Amino acid sequence: MTRTDPGLTYLKGVTTLELISEKCIGCGSCAIVCPHRVFVIEGKKARITDRDRCIECGACSRNCPVAAIKVDAGVGCASAIIYSWLTGNEPSCDCEDGSSCC
Ligand code: SF4
Ligand code: SF4
Repeated sequence: MTRTDPGLTYLKGVTTLELISEKCIGCGSCAIVCPHRVFVIEGKKARITDRDRCIECGACSRNCPVAAIKVDAGVGCASAIIYSWLTGNEPSCDCEDGSSCC
């Protein structure tokens, strides 16, 4: 059973996070390092519980020994939101149509 925790949801539908399940060896590193509990290990494989929890910090990808996780850490809408919080400015990312989608 997957535990729901709406408090960990970050931004809807913007994360670049990808899990390549075929490569996963079930080491559990991603589940240990992720600050938003995005991963669980089930049946010796990692599974994403809720992609919208991901803040694109990149910890999972850096710690996966078989490169089974891809995430563009520090780019895109999630990063733009964090940067806006830190600077007090409006969020702005490089979305394709040039509009502000953040
Ligand atoms: S990038 Fe960070 S928040 Fe997103 S799944 Fe990986 S460790 Fe978790
Ligand atoms: S760190 Fe990589 S190999 Fe280890 S459980 Fe996560 S996805 Fe699988």
